[in-house]
Amino acid sequence: LVRRAEQHDTKAIQALDSAHYLHPFTSHGDLAGVGARVITRADNIYVWDSEGAKILDAMSGLWCVNAGYGRKELADAAYQQMMTLPFYNSFFNTTNVPAVQLAAKLASLAPVVGGRKFEHVFFSSSGSESNDTNVRMVRRYWDLLGQPQRKVIISRHNAYHGSTMAGASLGGMSGMHAQGDLPIPNITHIEQPHHWDNALPGESHADFGRRAAGWLEEKILEVGPEKVAAFIAEPVQGAGGVIIPPETYWPEIQRIVDQYGILLISDEVICAFGRLGHWFAYQKFGYRPDLITFAKGVTSGYIPLGGVMVGDRVAKVLIEQGGEFNHGYTYSGHPVACAVALANLELMEREDLPGRVKNDIGPYLAERFAELSDHPLVGAAETCGFVAGLVLVKDKGTREMFDPALSVGMICRGHCFRSGLIMRAVGDRMIIAPPLVMTREQIDEMMGLIVKCLDATL
Ligand code: PLP
Repeated sequence: LVRRAEQHDTKAIQALDSAHYLHPFTSHGDLAGVGARVITRADNIYVWDSEGAKILDAMSGLWCVNAGYGRKELADAAYQQMMTLPFYNSFFNTTNVPAVQLAAKLASLAPVVGGRKFEHVFFSSSGSESNDTNVRMVRRYWDLLGQPQRKVIISRHNAYHGSTMAGASLGGMSGMHAQGDLPIPNITHIEQPHHWDNALPGESHADFGRRAAGWLEEKILEVGPEKVAAFIAEPVQGAGGVIIPPETYWPEIQRIVDQYGILLISDEVICAFGRLGHWFAYQKFGYRPDLITFAKGVTSGYIPLGGVMVGDRVAKVLIEQGGEFNHGYTYSGHPVACAVALANLELMEREDLPGRVKNDIGPYLAERFAELSDHPLVGAAETCGFVAGLVLVKDKGTREMFDPALSVGMICRGHCFRSGLIMRAVGDRMIIAPPLVMTREQIDEMMGLIVKCLDATL
């Protein structure tokens, strides 16, 4: 297999790629004459391209390869399940064993908070689909409770909740809204809790966190509390640039959603399954969601699977009062995807990946990342569990940013790519989310590469 991968003729693949493959989130004009970099194989925390170059993948693919590449037991689980039962749906009063076992496993991993339990799971194949499910489920819930006017879902600017019509609408990416007449009706946004961008001069993180949460209350009052169905948020914003909220933010959000009785959706597509040092991210911040979106890390990206953990407040109403919920996907509870997820969660448990992040490699990454604050280009360097972000600034003293037309983040990303490091740029924020199997030595290796690329960007 490895030999075959290395035998690829890069130019030929690139020519076919440009002739036939319409890529997601890609400006094809940028590829003209250059060609996409062809990734052919992977192991542990590294990927290789078709020219044989080894690259340290500090993004875990797209924030998903939590268990690292090359885990044979996940491939074995897929093979065994494909030979036993490659497909059967769970529509129309049927079920399948891996889906049942995975639902039970996930329920056992989600701790009870404030008397709220997560005993039910609805499966999809991605984070976007799961957030579409959330929109339908939340509206169904309020309909069943005789409050059909509660339709409005509040989200945040610069949030990322997926790329389908509902996912992109819930998200707060203006570039996505501009294409396709979004958001769809009854979705509205508040500002993000981003201290760097939104704090007042001299405002402490704690004060800012409370003030930023207050924007939710203002929005609820503006919309009319009787019309608000839910608030959705990522525990730490990922695609928006690793925006870590101040500690005061989530407790105040909890107070507000409780006061107005609205549902809280925690979109943990990135943050669950060890990324922040816990199985689920609400554990880290201590809030009580009603619905949890998950995907990515549940299978470590080896096969598509997503879903919604449905808390008992919503599950009880859907199950006891709901009749048929006219919603589902062909691949909801796909047996092969569920079997891989089960093997992945067992592996993560055995190797205690959440615990490693919480007690070992997470604190070490924080320590090493903090050193970057001394670099002349770095305005702020922050970590939370195993995600981290850097702000690139023109002038550290005055916090002056670079002219966006210079695309300094993209320049830095280019240096990373050429130096054998995958790091992502969001404007002038450089972000990472490495595999949770990374060793301390590999963190040192990654930090060396990051410094080299920052120096080259200067
Ligand atoms: N929600 C969050 C927080 C995400 O980060 C993502 C993807 O990055 C999604 C939803 C969408 O997931 P998918 O790309 O699997 O549809």
